[in-house]
Amino acid sequence: MYPVQIVTILMVYDFFYYWAHRVLFHDTPGRIGPLKWVHATHHRQLNPCRMDSGYLNPIETAIGLGLYVFTIALLTLVFGRFHVGMIVVTWVAFQQINLHNHDLWDRERFAGGYIATMAEMHHHHHARFTGGNFATITLLYDWMFGTLDYGKGPGVKVSREERIAKKSQAAVASEA
Ligand SMILES: [Zn+2]
Ligand SMILES: [Zn+2]
Repeated sequence: MYPVQIVTILMVYDFFYYWAHRVLFHDTPGRIGPLKWVHATHHRQLNPCRMDSGYLNPIETAIGLGLYVFTIALLTLVFGRFHVGMIVVTWVAFQQINLHNHDLWDRERFAGGYIATMAEMHHHHHARFTGGNFATITLLYDWMFGTLDYGKGPGVKVSREERIAKKSQAAVASEA
């Protein structure tokens, strides 16, 4: 039961985070993000490394933690009381995922394909303050709401062949 609870908490949290990140921290067409100035601290890094995951204005840290606590309170309506150890494990899992999103993970390392893709997508997000890829845990909500950004702007379709070609070009460039 614990794995189901952990995945559910992370996915529901990511749904709330997706919308908070998109609506509060970033501009939407015809509208300036009301807390864009708070999020600007995190976006000072255009090409972040893993430690930049914690480079946040304290207001953003408080909002993220608040969403996490709210998610858990909400899900107690479904699951009843959670084991405190499970809450700790979930928080550590979240932190690790968030760290790796800011790290250009090697495809040959453990779970390389998925983690590397998530990290590349978050790097596209940092490269432009107005890009897509607003979720942290998975790409599901960006896919659902049309904000996947492969480096050409949110919602712009890039073929799988083109993405793979771009990655191998980058690998050749880094070896040279
Ligand atoms: Zn952002
Ligand atoms: Zn980031």
